[in-house]
Amino acid sequence: MAPIEDAALRSLLADLRAIPSGREEKTNELENLIDYLEIAAVAAGEKPSHLQGQGRRSRGFMHAIERVAGVHGLLVMRTPPVPTYYHRAPHYDPRFFEWERQRDRESCAREGHVLWIYRDRNLESAIRAAVEGEADVAEVLGYPPCCVRENSELGIRLAEARVRGYQSQYGATDVEDFIRLATQDARVEITRTDWPEFRHVFPYVQFSPCSHCAESSSSPAAEVNWAMKRLATRLSPAFQRAIDKAAKAALEVREAKRRR
Ligand SMILES: [Zn+2]
Repeated sequence: MAPIEDAALRSLLADLRAIPSGREEKTNELENLIDYLEIAAVAAGEKPSHLQGQGRRSRGFMHAIERVAGVHGLLVMRTPPVPTYYHRAPHYDPRFFEWERQRDRESCAREGHVLWIYRDRNLESAIRAAVEGEADVAEVLGYPPCCVRENSELGIRLAEARVRGYQSQYGATDVEDFIRLATQDARVEITRTDWPEFRHVFPYVQFSPCSHCAESSSSPAAEVNWAMKRLATRLSPAFQRAIDKAAKAALEVREAKRRR
């Protein structure tokens, strides 16, 4: 694929930054800026794809991004949201696990669409596999497999802690009990250590780094972070400063919450 001139990338970035943000978006300043940076990284060939709209994001914002990406010659594809990826089966009744996966797939299908932005048509089958829950998103999004895998593991441990809670706190013994409690959204006491925590150490990436990556400035996650920061600086020092400022503001919000 032909390399893209910095001028074209700057024009893409300017159009993205000109998208008017609604009330909802203002609270996610850092996330929005990293969305723009990721899309520029896709255009620059530094990232295979960008996923927009996973989790609660506004529809209007997603449509505006879709339009800008299309105008700048990027490929776009709408799919249902990406279901949770399990790198292994959890240690409990596989029938309950299958029920949970089915419920997850159905809720994803109800949720509407997410938007994939990419440059290479050959990526489409890998994107579809991730959307089917058959493959993790590491490869399609260019995230380090170690981080994606650890987050999957933490999610599975949380699911296992919940099932243990059904057993110890509600006396559940079989798959029917688990399904009934899950359907009722029964509250389970889960210790702090069983809750996965997002590690906010790399402001230029949107994934949570694994414990190994978080502690090293030369880890795979750190490398992605530096590469993204370099791209931001190259395209626009003012944009890079805006990211730093938004990251600082987000950190202050988190620390204020922790003190409360
Ligand atoms: Zn990692």
